[in-house]
Amino acid sequence: MIGPVADSISPTPDTVCLFCRADLTELPDPEHIVPQSMGGRGWLVTRSVCNRCNHTLGKDVDRVADAPVLVALRMEAGLEVWRGLSVEYFDEEVNITFDGWLKGDGTIELTRDRYGGSEGSFYISGPTLALAQARANRIAERMRSRGRTVTLSEPFQRETRLVPIWLRGGPQDAKGFNQLLVREAAKAAVEYVALAFSSEMALRTELDPIRTCARDGIPLDGAWVGTAGREIWLPRLGLMMNTGEDAPTPEELTRLKPGTQSPEGRYIPRLRHELMVARRAEGCQFTLVLFGGFGVRVPLPSALPWPGVRYHFKDFERLRTGDGRSLT
Ligand SMILES: [Zn+2]
Repeated sequence: MIGPVADSISPTPDTVCLFCRADLTELPDPEHIVPQSMGGRGWLVTRSVCNRCNHTLGKDVDRVADAPVLVALRMEAGLEVWRGLSVEYFDEEVNITFDGWLKGDGTIELTRDRYGGSEGSFYISGPTLALAQARANRIAERMRSRGRTVTLSEPFQRETRLVPIWLRGGPQDAKGFNQLLVREAAKAAVEYVALAFSSEMALRTELDPIRTCARDGIPLDGAWVGTAGREIWLPRLGLMMNTGEDAPTPEELTRLKPGTQSPEGRYIPRLRHELMVARRAEGCQFTLVLFGGFGVRVPLPSALPWPGVRYHFKDFERLRTGDGRSLT
């Protein structure tokens, strides 16, 4: 059974910080359980975290939002991102790997405007043919002034077409990403327990391992990270995310939160965040699902008197009706 939860803000702060138990003499800044950069602005907020811990958690833990796969999901959900997504692609026609920033509209802004080719040749790109030609003329002029022989070929336009692109900083960072996801979930677990149950519950010493995982990065026994699949298809961005070798099999996450299978069998995540405290066969757990793409389970001490299930979600699918409040 799912019980209703007071939405969002605990009106009065507690007397001590949920993480370091320092006295809260002044009203601390709002702390967002789901970072604002991931769409948590004005959603689940607590005032029971001291500014120092708030700052540390923001700097050390919430930066998980800048991991490439989460940047991709933020873009897919229509959220603002700073520069877009760092990607690279190989152009078979010119035999060169290009790198650039994938924008929310699906276009790629190239990072460099000159690319080395074979046998002393290179390619110069530009937003238009005329600009590319002007750029090439300037470079050729400069090289000739140094006594080199330069021949420019005719400018040509590449057709806009779909190319396979790769996320930068992908599989080799999977372990660090998983650890950060666990810290993010541990942070959310402590704050969510305080919001959805009580601060007294969140401050119980039995939750100290979750606290130290969040604040200090101490590994947490029994924490589990899953992805929606090894290949996650983002139709809006036209992007396939390969989530790396350490990812669990797609079947495991499909059970956690079923999504839509595209005809090719790739997983299209349902773009929503979920936070839940529930008792399962394995024991009591806090679950954090981000954008339907990643799920983290944090074990909660089963001996504590959990009064029931708590669940919040926030939907980023335009056609869906979720309003971010609890289900009843
Ligand atoms: Zn603190």
